[in-house]
Amino acid sequence: MLDAPVLVLVDLETSGAPQGATPTAPALELLAAARSLTSGEVVALVLQPVDTETASTLAAAGGSRLLVADLGEQAVVSAAVADAVVAACGRVGPGAVLVASDFRGKELAGRVAILLESACVSDVSRLEVVDGDLRASKLVLSGSWATTMSVAPHREGTPVIAVRPGSVEVQAPAGAEPLGVEPLEVALSPEATATRLVSREEASAAAGPALGEARTVVVGGRGVDGDFDLVRSLAEPLGAAVGATRVACDEGWIDRSAQIGQTGETIAPRLYIGLGVSGAIHHTSGIQGAGAVVAVCDDSEAPIFEMADFGVVGDVTEVVPQLVEELDRLRG
Ligand SMILES: Cc1cc2nc3c(=O)[nH]c(=O)nc-3n(C[C@H](O)[C@H](O)[C@H](O)COP(=O)(O)OP(=O)(O)OC[C@H]3O[C@@H](n4cnc5c(N)ncnc54)[C@H](O)[C@@H]3O)c2cc1C
Repeated sequence: MLDAPVLVLVDLETSGAPQGATPTAPALELLAAARSLTSGEVVALVLQPVDTETASTLAAAGGSRLLVADLGEQAVVSAAVADAVVAACGRVGPGAVLVASDFRGKELAGRVAILLESACVSDVSRLEVVDGDLRASKLVLSGSWATTMSVAPHREGTPVIAVRPGSVEVQAPAGAEPLGVEPLEVALSPEATATRLVSREEASAAAGPALGEARTVVVGGRGVDGDFDLVRSLAEPLGAAVGATRVACDEGWIDRSAQIGQTGETIAPRLYIGLGVSGAIHHTSGIQGAGAVVAVCDDSEAPIFEMADFGVVGDVTEVVPQLVEELDRLRG
């Protein structure tokens, strides 16, 4: 175990909303990961004021200190968030910084590492401490190789690690005394003040859980022939996010933000369900971290069946309605 503190950037569900926002699922995973790495403090950094309920959720999830840097609307500007993380590092002297490996987290990891003159690793799916060194593992080359990097916090500065959502098992948090709030003043850099939020609106594809954080993802490929209502009809009762192959996005059947794969999102859900997806390597490289893979495809030779734990050779227009009906029946 490390004995130095570990700093965790905690994202809240409704960034920019008043107090009362809850930590995102990936943030709770980061706190659990941090707790398993250090015998020292796990310091949660949030970017807006929080209420006592959130402060006790953070304690129950493994946090032992809570820094609040109230960035207001600048909380959406990566350079400002990087300034806050660096200020927090100055306050607590962490052995490592953990952020979520989503689009913003990866950018942030790079920015913070430059400011700290240290190093960053993104897309990490496993963290452990061996002989006082932090080891970060990730899949590379379209998921065909697993690599492990050793980062020595005491020799090479504070490493910034972006951890893939869904990689850490989290126990249901028990009740805990709320953490005391320590305000953190942040002097914004010229890079941060040069950017300001002009407008903000929720993307239409954002209905349901966020793709990168969802426990279950239902993906539509060319085989759904543009019928994403069919995909949603299965996703909704499962509380799943809707994803797509590049072909489906190219066809304009769904927003580009839903694309999964080499040039899209990398996901690690507990359950992936592919509908009319052939399983091309450019797509499956984005789902290497998935738990169970289920495929419905009419071509028994499709490569998706090589990685599927459960496969149905059939027409999605026949199989999906039966699946939905069975789910309805099981739920009474
Ligand atoms: C550099 C590069 C980067 C790329 N990046 C990505 C990426 O990030 N993500 C990505 O997804 N792709 C990416 N691609 C494209 C990728 O190579 C594949 O072309 C794409 O993933 C195929 O999508 P698909 O499975 O929907 O379509 P297809 O490969 O055409 O497969 C559709 C499947 O559905 C089956 N089917 C048809 N009708 C039905 C039906 N009614 N019921 C059941 N099954 C049916 C077909 O038999 C077929 O097996 C990339 C390609 C390149 C060159």
